[in-house]
Amino acid sequence: MNKVRATAPAKVNLIFEVGQLEPTGYHSVNSLFLALDLREEVSISVGLQGTGITIYVKGEDLPARHIAAVPTDESNLVVKAVRLLSKKLGIETPDIQIDILKRIPVAGGMAGGSADAAATLVAFNEYANKNLGTAKLTLEELLEAGSELGSDIPFCILGKIAVGTDRGNQLSAIPELSFTTHWVLAISQQGLSTPTVFAKFDELGQSSEFRDLVELRNSIGTIEDLAGCLGNDLQASAVELMPQLSTLIQNIESLGALRAIVSGSGPTIAALCSSKEQAETIAETLNGQGIFALTASSPALGANLEG
Ligand code: ATP
Repeated sequence: MNKVRATAPAKVNLIFEVGQLEPTGYHSVNSLFLALDLREEVSISVGLQGTGITIYVKGEDLPARHIAAVPTDESNLVVKAVRLLSKKLGIETPDIQIDILKRIPVAGGMAGGSADAAATLVAFNEYANKNLGTAKLTLEELLEAGSELGSDIPFCILGKIAVGTDRGNQLSAIPELSFTTHWVLAISQQGLSTPTVFAKFDELGQSSEFRDLVELRNSIGTIEDLAGCLGNDLQASAVELMPQLSTLIQNIESLGALRAIVSGSGPTIAALCSSKEQAETIAETLNGQGIFALTASSPALGANLEG
């Protein structure tokens, strides 16, 4: 029985526009997603007979509280991904062990759980084909499965750069940026729950008119253009819930970053830098101030199998 390993990227929302609450209970969003080379890793191997799905979680370069916050029961997105794919493949869920190596901060607005689910969909598709003789689902079918599980999962499967509409799950691939981007990611002590941030957004009543993000992407030729158009409709809500984020943004910009914004529903602050060296220097300074910070870059591929 073969072990199968896959990785999937973190995301930042370069632009995140949020519409009104729909009758479905979701907000429609209009997002310009960018994948970063900070990757979750998922390995699937055969489990002991009769044990179902067993999960082990380890972290790399993350404070211990992030790993402790990851559930290892049915609520983990990787379990949901395996159950859904088993159903689609017409098989009983097999006895498997899933090892998750987390590098993306948990509850940080960077789609860590979604990246785990994306990597699991790709890995389990391969595992079931190799070990259980099932047909392989196509990329389209995997995107559809991801969309059923969570709004950010299709983008973690596709990677690179894309516009996401509806709940962020309807993706249009667009031309990649013509330059590399380097980011500092400043991680807060506590996480922010995505539903809480959206609830605050509704309370503040600030839904926006959606722009044509494909056209906007086409207007980005330089890193300065990109810095000028970064924006997140959820930023005010996240800052209202964690006022210290505003000071952190100012702090990072005063250290020389081109622009710092709340990533997705926060509280991670994503700061665009003019070079890798600048990103590393700012991250070092923040770490020296007791603020946990990482660096990451684009472009980054979507979920893929690792040798
Ligand atoms: P997003 O950016 O997609 O809104 P996030 O990055 O802010 O998500 P996650 O790290 O995905 O947040 O975790 C949110 C919550 O999901 C966690 O607090 C945890 O309870 C639950 N969860 C379920 N599966 C996972 C997983 N594999 N990894 C991390 N958290 C998970």
